[in-house]
Amino acid sequence: MKKPSVLLIYTGGTIGMMQDPRSGELKPFNFKALSKQIPELEKFDINLSSISFAKPIDSSNMHPGVWVELATIIKHNYKLYDGFVILHGSDTMAYTASALSFMLENLAKPLVLTGSQLPIGIIRTDGKENLITAIEIAASLIKNKPIVTEVCVYFEYKLYRGNRTYKYNSAHFDAFKSPNYPALAEAGVDIKYNTAALLKPSKKQLIVHTHLDNDIAVLKLFPGLSKKITLAILNTEGIKAVILETYGAGNASTEEWFTSALKQAIDKGIIIYNVTQCAEGRVIQGMYETSSLLKKIGVVSGFDITFESAIAKLMFVLGKKLSVAKSKVLLETDLRGEITIQN
Ligand code: ASP
Repeated sequence: MKKPSVLLIYTGGTIGMMQDPRSGELKPFNFKALSKQIPELEKFDINLSSISFAKPIDSSNMHPGVWVELATIIKHNYKLYDGFVILHGSDTMAYTASALSFMLENLAKPLVLTGSQLPIGIIRTDGKENLITAIEIAASLIKNKPIVTEVCVYFEYKLYRGNRTYKYNSAHFDAFKSPNYPALAEAGVDIKYNTAALLKPSKKQLIVHTHLDNDIAVLKLFPGLSKKITLAILNTEGIKAVILETYGAGNASTEEWFTSALKQAIDKGIIIYNVTQCAEGRVIQGMYETSSLLKKIGVVSGFDITFESAIAKLMFVLGKKLSVAKSKVLLETDLRGEITIQN
């Protein structure tokens, strides 16, 4: 059995932060200090290498440029390692995991994002367990083949498909949920993999996509949403797509001004992408009268996609510079296990 090798990429986040003694604020500190805090890492029978961002960031400062940087690091190191772990702030981890899942087509190795709610230097930190188990998952091989071949989030004993997660709790160690897809693994005495839920490994070559287009906006529905604001968003210069955050199973107001504003945008070539405000469940356009109209005018269904994944998928699809019709088809296609299409 060969010794597995894992590349650890430190981007920042609470896991590696320290309290500023004067202001009390949490600020990122350098990675060498982080590894000193976890002597357990030395005990692994794994070849562990690490890369740290020169300036670690709080993940609230995450942006598509960093996703391109991360995807490029994976591309350059893909053949050298059996698995990858990205240390990342939990605030935008679900966005980064989603983006990387689309950018890394045919990924056939584990890429596990993790972080923590308490800095690693604090006695009650959740960071040590998260990091140690994430590394173990990234290094897990059966007959020299990786068990996991997708982008995941590991947090508080659970491994999730990254593009199915969202951060739902800012105070509990158990900070993430995957409401529409089961956990891929659970860590107890052993790590139990839900083999049936894992993506099948691709036999094709890795393709790394680095063109993302962020000419997108979000229109979240609420009772009282005004015509003025709706039109301002839909008429934003250069806008290519709008996520319409709808009610329940993808429902929206049937007021004439609203439907015709959407229709005018669609006629101009703007993609309107229907994503539900509900964490659990799915968009079913046509289930109610209040969504039939959306379907009729050409609104694209997000099915059971998370908001985070919808943002990443839109940027990825628009980045391909396809025709509007082809982009719409891709949005309604399951590309990386991010949606479940039911007929
Ligand atoms: N604000 C931090 C971040 O996302 C929170 C965390 O790491 O959990 O970078």
